[in-house]
Amino acid sequence: MSDTYMPLTSVKSGVCKEYAKGVYGLTVQIVNVYFIMNSSGEAVLIDCGMPKSASFIMKEAEKLFEGDVRLKAIILTHGHFDHVGALEELLEKWSVPVFIHSEEMPYVTGKADYPPAKPQVKSGLVAKLSPLFPRHSIDVSSSVKPLHEDGTVPFLEEWKWIGTPGHTPGHISLFRQSDKTLIAGDAITTVEQESLLEVAIQKQELNGPPAYFTMDWPKAADSIRKLAALKPASLLTGHGVPMKGTDFSQELNSLSNRLPASQG
Ligand SMILES: [Zn+2]
Ligand SMILES: [Zn+2]
Repeated sequence: MSDTYMPLTSVKSGVCKEYAKGVYGLTVQIVNVYFIMNSSGEAVLIDCGMPKSASFIMKEAEKLFEGDVRLKAIILTHGHFDHVGALEELLEKWSVPVFIHSEEMPYVTGKADYPPAKPQVKSGLVAKLSPLFPRHSIDVSSSVKPLHEDGTVPFLEEWKWIGTPGHTPGHISLFRQSDKTLIAGDAITTVEQESLLEVAIQKQELNGPPAYFTMDWPKAADSIRKLAALKPASLLTGHGVPMKGTDFSQELNSLSNRLPASQG
C-alpha cells in the first residue's frame, strides 16, 4: 500500500500550497499551519506554528489572500508549543476568537503545563533535544473559547471537528466529508518526527504522533482507528508533507496496531 502514496507536492518552507479545495498549507520550520477559506471568502487559521514565526505567517497570508486577509477565527488542534508558538503575536494583529477542545483549555489559559517530554522513547536527535522544547502553558484566556460539543466548526460549515485524544487530552482533528479531507494535527504524522534527518528530508511515510510528547498511547491508537473509519482521501498533518491516496484506512489501522501498548 505504501507505494500508492502520492505526496501532493514537495513543500518548501515559506510557500502556501493548496492541498484541497480552499485549504492552504504553510510549513513553518518543522510544523504545518493551514488556512481554510469558506464559501464567503473568509479564512480560518488552523494552528499557529513555531514561536517567533508570526510575521512570517502574516506575510504569507497577505500574499495568499492578496492583501485582503479576512481571518475570522483560529482553531487549534492542541496546545503544544509548535502549534501555538506564534499565537499571542498573531492575536495582536488579528483580533479573532481562538477555539480549542475544552479539555485542552488549561494548557492555553495558564492553568496547566504538559508533562515533561520523554526523550528516552526513541533514539532520534529531535527526541534528544525534546527536553529543551517549551512545554509551559501560554495564556490567551481573553481570546480562547471551547469548541461546540456538537462537532461544528465556527465559520466552516462544511467541516466537523473530531476528538482525537491521546497525543494530548483534548487533541482534535478536522474533517470535510465532501472530499474526505482530513487535517490530523499530531494524531498522525507523515514523517518520523523523532529523527532530525528524516524531518529535514521529509521522508514520506505514515507514523503515529510525535512520541516524545504523547501522553496516552492506547487513546492515540483509538484515535487513529477513528480517523481510519472516515476513509480519508487526503491527509494533512501537523508534521510532514500532506499526502493523497486512494484510501488510507487500511494503512491507518495497521499503524494504530503498531503504536506502543502502554500508557505513557
Ligand atoms: Zn503535539
Ligand atoms: Zn506538533
